Amino acid sequence: MQDQTLEYARSLDKGDELAGFRERFYLQPGTIYMDGNSLGLMSRDAEAAALNALNDWKTLGIEGWMGGNPPWFYLAEELGRMQTDLVGAKPEELVVAGSNTINLHNLVATFFQPEGKRTKILTDDLNFPSDHYALQSQLLLKGLDPAEHLVVVKSRDGRTISEDDLIAAMTDEIALVFLPVVLYRSGQLLDVERLTREAHARGILIGFDGCHSVGAVPHRLSEWGVDFAMWCNYKYLNGGPGATAGLYVNEKHFGTRPGLSGWFGYRKDRQFDMVYDFEGAESAGAWQIGTTHLLSSAPLLGSLKIFQEAGIDRLRAKSLRMTDYLMELIDALPESYGYSIGNPREADRRGGHVALEHEEAIRICKALKGHGIIPDFRFPNVIRLAPVALYNTFEEVWQTVEALKQIIDNKEYEKFPKDREVVA
Ligand SMILES: *Cc1c(COP(=O)(O)O)cnc(C)c1O
Repeated sequence: MQDQTLEYARSLDKGDELAGFRERFYLQPGTIYMDGNSLGLMSRDAEAAALNALNDWKTLGIEGWMGGNPPWFYLAEELGRMQTDLVGAKPEELVVAGSNTINLHNLVATFFQPEGKRTKILTDDLNFPSDHYALQSQLLLKGLDPAEHLVVVKSRDGRTISEDDLIAAMTDEIALVFLPVVLYRSGQLLDVERLTREAHARGILIGFDGCHSVGAVPHRLSEWGVDFAMWCNYKYLNGGPGATAGLYVNEKHFGTRPGLSGWFGYRKDRQFDMVYDFEGAESAGAWQIGTTHLLSSAPLLGSLKIFQEAGIDRLRAKSLRMTDYLMELIDALPESYGYSIGNPREADRRGGHVALEHEEAIRICKALKGHGIIPDFRFPNVIRLAPVALYNTFEEVWQTVEALKQIIDNKEYEKFPKDREVVA
């Protein structure tokens, strides 16, 4: 059993080579932010980049498209290039455009091509609702009934999805597989490489949702041969609420007509020729639809610089140390406290957050806020806690578990109503 003292937590912070990055973020005095997996905090770098974009707009007007710093016309591709190491892809396979759900629509509209017996999409029953809605509507647009054509692999335990079950469901009726890299509730990390290999061996295309993994877990999308992916830039990537999203298309698919095309996907050197025959860019840039969302993209210029400096491998190593530490402290609480860990324990099977389960989760989350700790609640009984490698400390992890202990010791949660809040 590890040392459970506050001094020990502080010694871990002293030995942390990434500790210096914390100063670059806006942390509110008196609060411990454990929700960076839902909405990452603002960094000074992101703020400066956003202000710079505003100033370019103020002073340049339309000249900002070519004269901005950097030019707005190339910003989507530039931000894609800045994510190559984060997701393990070639610069031309990446673009930052649209939103998570819009990108998912466009990618499925492109790569779901039912033919003959292959008319179904395979997914899991624990993915984020928006992903399910998008898959359902893409089937409906092709005249297919989701009840029959969306194959949903069930979880055996309500927390995780078995890769064996997914592979067993990859039949010759499946045209496309779409799965999360990390499950948003339990934090399970799927074996993307193995699933991709197995899908391809059966002639099935496969895409992934990296909303809960990119920025926390290293990816090697190109090397694994993943066909396409989309992810969130406002969770672990700290790009700001609703930040423009990430999109990857494997280079073998360049030249494929995007399912939802628009003029920003046109080859850039001739976009302003304004001709009606669509000639898409020879890159993931072809999957852009409309004008770059400058003010929702600019903060990423600052935020991604931080990731380039820190490096995803070092961030992952620290994240695992922090979540390990958090789990050890929770394990050390007597069983009578009622806490249990709902995420997989193995380092290669979990993402960046701990899924803490408790039957009083709603009221415990409210009591945590009373302690100045910001958690994340997922109905009905999950408290998600994400110590983020860039800005959280081991001491904050210790303080969080101390609060979790006191909330039970003093029955603090009983002072709060049981109803859930609108955004939870
Ligand atoms: C956060 C998240 C979304 C949200 O998508 P938006 O289009 O940005 O609202 C969708 N899917 C998953 C898995 C997410 O984690």
